[in-house]
Amino acid sequence: MRTDIHRKGAIIPTDYQYVMSYSLATSQEGWAVPSYNVNCNLDTNHAVKGHTGNCCLIGMFNDPTKKFAKHGSTGKCTICGAAYIYGDVWQHIPTGEYIHVGHDCADKMQSQDRRAFEHGRVKFINGQIRLARLEQFCKDNPGMDVVFAQHDKNHIIADMRSKVMEWGNLSEKQIAFAKKLADTIINPVPVADEPEPLLLKEGRGEYTGRFVNFKGSEGPYGWVTKGLFIVEQDGKQAKIWMTVPSGYGDEKNVEAVIMVALSKGDKAGFYFGNRPKLLKVLDTV
Ligand SMILES: [Zn+2]
Ligand SMILES: [Zn+2]
Repeated sequence: MRTDIHRKGAIIPTDYQYVMSYSLATSQEGWAVPSYNVNCNLDTNHAVKGHTGNCCLIGMFNDPTKKFAKHGSTGKCTICGAAYIYGDVWQHIPTGEYIHVGHDCADKMQSQDRRAFEHGRVKFINGQIRLARLEQFCKDNPGMDVVFAQHDKNHIIADMRSKVMEWGNLSEKQIAFAKKLADTIINPVPVADEPEPLLLKEGRGEYTGRFVNFKGSEGPYGWVTKGLFIVEQDGKQAKIWMTVPSGYGDEKNVEAVIMVALSKGDKAGFYFGNRPKLLKVLDTV
């Protein structure tokens, strides 16, 4: 038989003030929902270092200045002894003692404003359910965790990830598309390698190739246009820097046969061409 002041029948509601609310682990729409405001280090949205004071229920327990009533405990009403998922902490003003109160009993107390708690709880729990949907989806669809890891690099992947968090699924087509997208991020196409250098003999010779660029400048004998002449053989490439011979015209990539005297440049496959002479213009490449 209880004789304490907080027991049902003896309690004087006006002697109490609302302190905070908390909820225990439960499930929602089939998803496991963790507790909220019990341990703020689990409810990451308001984790407090040191964990003492009004940060959460554990914080209140850790605070030696706060004394809880003998009856009741986390999820067990001090007043009526009922077990609950959603409850409050109230303080008995005359003694300073704290009590656990289920919502049924709390409704008979003075007004309490749980809006901030509810807002925080719903936000936290929705976030947890979103993460749970994502986790389940990645379990059911191997490889999608790697795809979604790219969400900060691609807005389409980010959108798909949000959809999974909201609805829990994607179509087969969307999954295939997301995998392709992620693959282009994870395994970018390598930049084409420079072709191997084509080694040419120094001195005068005939070469078939094309000018890939032109550069005009004022020389000691007037205006000259120089250009880079590319000669390709068996996938190898030589570059010859020379004056564009008269008759070549001013279009790039026109294939031509040029007689020119070569001297080696500073890199393998690179030559300077002297006294070039246009022998033949072939078709445009
Ligand atoms: Zn805390
Ligand atoms: Zn109760």
